[in-house]
Amino acid sequence: CGIVGYVGTESAGPVVHGGLKNLDYRGYDSAGVALVNQEVTIAKQSGKVDDLSVPDIPDATCGIGHTRWSTHGPPTDENAHPHTGMTGDVAVVHNGIIENYDALKSELRADGREFSSDTDTEVIPHLLEQELADGHDLHSALESVVERLEGSYAIAAVRAGSEQIVATRHESPLVVGHGDDASFLASDVTAFLEHTRDVTYLEDGDVVTLEGGDVTVYQDGEVVDREIETVDWDAD
Ligand code: GLU
Repeated sequence: CGIVGYVGTESAGPVVHGGLKNLDYRGYDSAGVALVNQEVTIAKQSGKVDDLSVPDIPDATCGIGHTRWSTHGPPTDENAHPHTGMTGDVAVVHNGIIENYDALKSELRADGREFSSDTDTEVIPHLLEQELADGHDLHSALESVVERLEGSYAIAAVRAGSEQIVATRHESPLVVGHGDDASFLASDVTAFLEHTRDVTYLEDGDVVTLEGGDVTVYQDGEVVDREIETVDWDAD
């Protein structure tokens, strides 16, 4: 349903929580965040964004958040996003549907992987972990994983020890916000308009890395130029 991300200089928890509150007007049944420093700290549950207790960890200046509108699996705490794999070092939020999740899940189970949710989403962090174990960084891991996904998605991923967000989209909206020494990510620009009006709308197949104020967009593995637009309307 809703995705929010922040990487910059401030504690990410309150910024991401604020972004989720700005998306609160949309229908959703669960909410959660993943905050990154040397580890990944997750807070998620079914119910309201306002009821979610989001940690304020000063040196966790990178984070992602999600409001879930369940398509696969009931609105339980376990099914809320972000989702992790086996190590807890990678966290993923996802909008949309992974149509071939069942086949991917069987394959991952055969590889000894255990699942803790009923979602289609959970295959993504497991696939990412496999790629990372093969020596890829998070960006190239995501590029490999999306080649295996069928369906519609906006995905954002983070990894312990790395103040970076990697994201991609296919038939689901995703927009980047450019701040001072900070970048924002959202499925809907209203999530971060209070912080910046300079935005880049991503296109299908784009893979983007956000690191502090540095935003790099790739398409088919090549860096591409995407326009920075200024939003001149107000959310209210
Ligand atoms: N298909 C995912 C799930 O059911 C994501 C739903 C959404 O877009 O919020 O968890």
